[in-house]
Amino acid sequence: MIEDKNQQRTSLENLGEFGLIDHLTKNFDIKHKSTVKGIGDDAAVLDFKSKKIVVTTDLLIENVHFDLSYMPLKHLGYKAIMVNLSDVFAMNANATQVTVSIAVSNRFSLEALEDLYAGIETAAKIYNIDVVGGDTTSSTTGLIISVTAIGELNEEDIVYRNGAKPNDLLVVTGDLGAAYMGLQVLEREKEVFKVNPQNQPDLDLYSYIIERQLKPEARQDIVKLLKDLDVKPTSMIDISDGLSSEIIHICKQSKVGCDLYENKIPLDPQVISTCEEFKIDSTTIALNGGEDYELLMTISQEDFPKIKANPNLTVIGFITEESRGMHLVTRGESRIPLIAKGWNSLSDQE
Ligand SMILES: [Mg+2]
Repeated sequence: MIEDKNQQRTSLENLGEFGLIDHLTKNFDIKHKSTVKGIGDDAAVLDFKSKKIVVTTDLLIENVHFDLSYMPLKHLGYKAIMVNLSDVFAMNANATQVTVSIAVSNRFSLEALEDLYAGIETAAKIYNIDVVGGDTTSSTTGLIISVTAIGELNEEDIVYRNGAKPNDLLVVTGDLGAAYMGLQVLEREKEVFKVNPQNQPDLDLYSYIIERQLKPEARQDIVKLLKDLDVKPTSMIDISDGLSSEIIHICKQSKVGCDLYENKIPLDPQVISTCEEFKIDSTTIALNGGEDYELLMTISQEDFPKIKANPNLTVIGFITEESRGMHLVTRGESRIPLIAKGWNSLSDQE
């Protein structure tokens, strides 16, 4: 589907590992004072003075987490950084550094890796983070990308998953389900392309949901917004596996229950229309779709006046005593127990 317009193809074998790292990272500059030494020695040296540090890591594997037949390498590099930054922001921290390691087979050319690193560089520039290390090695099969992200914050600003209290409001950023529906469209077009390679798909109708799948943005702006509004959530988590399983993580770790209102779940019109086209229930997609990289948080009732007019934040329910359990209150006002499905299991559903 995505044609390789770059006809030049330089084999990786001619470069060797050291030449390759140097080549791929030569444009990366250092932006943070906390980076004392970046790439170029045995290890990076970081100095955070009296701040607390958060560290998170994610592994992305070809044909498990991404499909290169519709995922351009530049987007993949960008997304690999976003997936990790999202976890840093979910701690209410400021992301500062990342390390990036890749394993590649000789099916990839130098030009392909340059595209991947161009995406990483763009993410580092926009999100103001330093790339301070990494490794490249060979793989006998597909592409593997491992990113570790580091963030800093003051101890009193840390937000864990376990601080939700009964009567807190359940709040979500952005809208949900778009990344999963974008994936459904891309998978469908891939099958069409297999049958008829001349077919040029018209994807204009799906531009928002495809962008949410191929080029997600981690919510750095929300960490700043919460600070500006003087709101510290009582708990927070990023939505990587779907709203349902993230709510369950917060409730179980905080030892509370919740009522989530179906009619409050924010959905983009393109998600609604694409769900209708695919004959899938949009609430199911928002609950279990995954890869939205929005933030789910709980906020004390006292802070409601500070957030209520903000278009980035939607109240979708409230926290209850643990003994009340975790429920979805449907449009028809029945209470259905919330279950964690995760987006992989969606393929098994009827
Ligand atoms: Mg997470």
